[in-house]
Amino acid sequence: MHGATVDGAPAAYNRAANELTLRPRDEIPDGTEFRATVTYTGVPEPLTDADGSKEGWLRTADGAVAVGEPAGSMTWFPGNNHPSDKAAYDITLTVPAGYEGISNGVRTTRRTERDGRVTTVWHEAEPMASYLATVAVGRYETGTATALGSVPVLTAAEKPVAARTAALRAEVPTILARQVELFGPYPFSAAGATVTADGPLHYALETQTRPVFPVSSFDRPTLVHEMSHQWYGDSVTPATWRDIWLNEGFATYGEWLYGERYEHVPIRTRYETAFAQDANWAFPPASPPTAENLFEPPVYQRGAMVLYKLRETVGDRLFDEILRGWPAKYRHSTATTADFTAYAESVAGRDLGALWDVWLYGDEKPARP
Ligand SMILES: [Zn+2]
Repeated sequence: MHGATVDGAPAAYNRAANELTLRPRDEIPDGTEFRATVTYTGVPEPLTDADGSKEGWLRTADGAVAVGEPAGSMTWFPGNNHPSDKAAYDITLTVPAGYEGISNGVRTTRRTERDGRVTTVWHEAEPMASYLATVAVGRYETGTATALGSVPVLTAAEKPVAARTAALRAEVPTILARQVELFGPYPFSAAGATVTADGPLHYALETQTRPVFPVSSFDRPTLVHEMSHQWYGDSVTPATWRDIWLNEGFATYGEWLYGERYEHVPIRTRYETAFAQDANWAFPPASPPTAENLFEPPVYQRGAMVLYKLRETVGDRLFDEILRGWPAKYRHSTATTADFTAYAESVAGRDLGALWDVWLYGDEKPARP
């Protein structure tokens, strides 16, 4: 690290493990806005999560891809690395000649420097949690389109996988238009997808406006899932990681609903399949026992089952109001499981405690689906 300023004045700083402390020269009164600037250089590395997966800055054969759920953003930029603290982002990337840098939001600038390097500037105007920031550097082919009449779409794929992913990348505007029908207004001012060749990234992630996929995970259900997260997870973000089912249960249900509405796959079949699988019952979705369990089947599949049962209980009309009203009420904000259950009950006009007790918090698998 080279230095820090607060409101332009040099600030003392101290770094201990993952914590960076700035000490401004002058005291900042409570409630006052201030600007902190941290100047640093470094060679970023990945980190290993409690469940053994790698995240953060992942090196590829000739570049890198950075993903940050839940903790990896701190491997490449300093920030208050908590899902409840969001900010707008401007990211500028300068990469070697022949390479492209890809990030979140709208690409406002792309220029070739005198030495042949390529600089791009990315603007994410809407609030973003640090875990949703992304960067990809490599030999990418990009494609652009417009969705919803005015939203710029930019997709990118590493050149060896560009041709075989082009058709699905071109579906982004159609999927987005359909999801607006299902979920309500799109919360962001850019969209797209980034597809890497298979390498160190083993899973797709809903990085804001531009989810990232290893090519082996780039299929329509996964694209629909990660795009569903733009409403459920990226715009309405869990207040704590224990509330992660608000991301994964909803995005999984988003896949089911898309299948029901647009692909003639009965949602009852999806639900019964999920109900039958023992792995989905290892723990209740609203209380994953440890950090190792955040991304396990009950969070996804049983989380989606909660929404299926909610729809069965309140009926299609009220359920639709809840599904669309939730991301409207908490747009660009954060929420807890208790916020959701209270919201659903307020729309339904009745207590739903029995439903939550069994499906959201219960340890026992119900006798019948
Ligand atoms: Zn997901």
